[in-house]
Amino acid sequence: MTGTMTGSAVGLMKLGDAHGAHNYHPLPVVAAHAEGAWVTDAEGRRYLDMLAAYSALNFGHRHPRLIAAARRQLERVTLVSRAFDHDQYGPFCAELAELAGMDVVLPMNTGAEAVETAIKVARKWGYTVKGVPADQAVIIAFTGNFHGRTTTIVSFSTDPDAREDFGPYTPGFRVVRYGDLDELAAVVGELGERVVAVLVEPIQGEAGVVLPPPGFLAGVRELCTARGVLMIEDEIQSGLGRTGYTFACAAEGVVPDAYLLGKALGGGIVPVSAMVSTWPVLGVLRPGQHGSTFGGNPLACAVGREVVAMLRTGGYQARSAVLGERMHARLTALPASAVRQVRGRGLWAGVEFASLPGREACERLAAHGVLAKETHGNVIRLAPPLVITAEELDWGIDRIEEAVSG
Ligand SMILES: *Cc1c(COP(=O)(O)O)cnc(C)c1O
Repeated sequence: MTGTMTGSAVGLMKLGDAHGAHNYHPLPVVAAHAEGAWVTDAEGRRYLDMLAAYSALNFGHRHPRLIAAARRQLERVTLVSRAFDHDQYGPFCAELAELAGMDVVLPMNTGAEAVETAIKVARKWGYTVKGVPADQAVIIAFTGNFHGRTTTIVSFSTDPDAREDFGPYTPGFRVVRYGDLDELAAVVGELGERVVAVLVEPIQGEAGVVLPPPGFLAGVRELCTARGVLMIEDEIQSGLGRTGYTFACAAEGVVPDAYLLGKALGGGIVPVSAMVSTWPVLGVLRPGQHGSTFGGNPLACAVGREVVAMLRTGGYQARSAVLGERMHARLTALPASAVRQVRGRGLWAGVEFASLPGREACERLAAHGVLAKETHGNVIRLAPPLVITAEELDWGIDRIEEAVSG
């Protein structure tokens, strides 16, 4: 684990190993400083960050606009709790709702909390609007899903690592094969009025950047509309510019009933997540029924507003589309003996190796000065920050080429 490290970095990693829970297996890189697409470790080694914190760093490390927005807010007011209003809350909600073409925002902190919010709202909507009998609501999710780590969310995970030994599991979910419209229609047919929502990732990030077949999302939309079911898009990883669009589902011309956002919404500075929807849906909540001490705090809202302002220009989405094409063209040109498949959209790729285990690939990449992360088996995920330049991207892919050729 300490192949490329020396001295103080080894000591720091050992300290984390001795006193931090072992719920992650980090690569042997100890970040000390970062800027844009680059991370510098405790010994001054530089790495090109081609993971970008799973899309939480869409705007790169310490983007000057975001740091400035955070600094301005740090000098004014950072936290009031939702017991009082503050001058960033209304503007943040209004601006994010407008970006999404929706009416209402419910801000939380982590992605998992946005998903939990959606589960609660969909159930309450089912009972109070749709007329589902008490405690009969069902939410449909998909194989290979990743929606977070709470006990309820892992209840409908299909990943044994995420799920096993964490029961008893929360009832009220059904899992359908990702991309299988026929099975979805059959399950909705079987459960009838009990189905309140379909929870779907437009592209499955954790599963290895897996795209559903063309027309799947549009088919889900059609079925949900026809059967009075909420379509909830988890865009926590895929959204906010990552795929070349503000929302990944726009690539299929699909508009859901609710977006779940997180990761990049916090600008790489603070955890900010949100459920963004319409009044008929989010309007079911009354005071006291849901909340969070830190959700929608002034610092989070100030940073979130800057993120929204940056996305409103369309510039980051355009960078992702153009540079993403360059990245995919180069990755698909890698020798077929080394790379079995390249998937993704925009500056987002799952690279499946023929035989090289993903973990080993990432260790080799780190030794070559590139940060990436394996997902499952032979797959690594590339999600460089959208501020990466064409030259930096080419440099990173040159390193990948070197690493996969041994
Ligand atoms: C990361 C992620 C989550 C969970 O977000 P956390 O902030 O880690 O709780 C949920 N859904 C998707 C698609 C994600 O990528």
